[in-house]
Amino acid sequence: MNNKINQKKIIVTGGAGFVGSNLCERLLNEDNIVYCIDNFSTGFKENIQHLMSDRNFHFLEHDITNTIPLEFEGLDEIYNLACPASPVQYQNLSIETLKVCTYGLFNIIDLAMHYNSKILHTSTSEVYGDPLIHPQNESYWGNVNSFGPRACYDEGKRCAEAILYEYKTKHNLDIRIIRIFNTYGPKMDEQDGRVVSNFIIQALNNLDITIHGAGSQTRSFQYIDDLVDGMLLIMKNKEKIDTPINLGNPNEMSIKNLSKTILELIPESKSKIIFQEQSIDDPKRRLPDIALAEKFLQWKPKVELKKGLKETIQYFRDIKK
Ligand code: UDP
Repeated sequence: MNNKINQKKIIVTGGAGFVGSNLCERLLNEDNIVYCIDNFSTGFKENIQHLMSDRNFHFLEHDITNTIPLEFEGLDEIYNLACPASPVQYQNLSIETLKVCTYGLFNIIDLAMHYNSKILHTSTSEVYGDPLIHPQNESYWGNVNSFGPRACYDEGKRCAEAILYEYKTKHNLDIRIIRIFNTYGPKMDEQDGRVVSNFIIQALNNLDITIHGAGSQTRSFQYIDDLVDGMLLIMKNKEKIDTPINLGNPNEMSIKNLSKTILELIPESKSKIIFQEQSIDDPKRRLPDIALAEKFLQWKPKVELKKGLKETIQYFRDIKK
């Protein structure tokens, strides 16, 4: 094993998923030693196949809900991403989602306490539920249904934040929490039912573009590279940041407009827009306030939506071949 001075040893849980695999790639490019853990519940071997030959990349197929069977000489950082994250997936895997947000997180905390490592935990804009204020800043407590089909994820992630708060307060654990808003880009799972991947795949295959409800609901879409930039900055920040931080792109748009933009970028598509039933408890508006990320990290998203969508469309064209 490589033992260069300053080379960090880093765990990425959920490292074979969409965000995780992009993050592992960046951490390896920065010459770190990366231990990627994934149970492939929603991640894919294909996402990390190209990293397997890197001597600084180590992979463990494991569900972090169970004790993590790894021993290290030292462990600097843990990025905790393991969790189904799209509404279709977390509703299919609802009990697993609750377990990974709680038991899984306790296992991660045990490791961090033992090795005195920092944790960056990925929370979500879903902690704001169907928000009643716009944009959503970090001090907003949210409007969440605790007894519905989205609750496994929303409340699981809220509980995770509460767990981390207690370990920060009672054990002085170095934790950083990000609340990730809708993110898209290469390595998204084409089956996970998210709106960006669904619309692109439908358009590329001349299938109907399925808008849930009237399409007036809004989201704000951030490109994966912007998110990874923000994650690295918050982990590197010398001072502890005593609050969760929103990472998202404040470019709110309606789902109907998103469908039109994607069709414009795939001009050969013969797809038609159709309207289907609205999902239960679907948030009507979502828009991040990123003032804290700008203040603490000097971070703001750089990639404009059409540019990011073009990259993503190219990715889906390539994997179709
Ligand atoms: N959506 C849609 N058609 C689809 C998939 C999603 O209209 O084929 C809508 C969904 O109902 C929601 C928005 O797009 O209002 C974003 O959904 P997504 O699953 O991407 O993520 P969410 O922000 O709900 O977690």
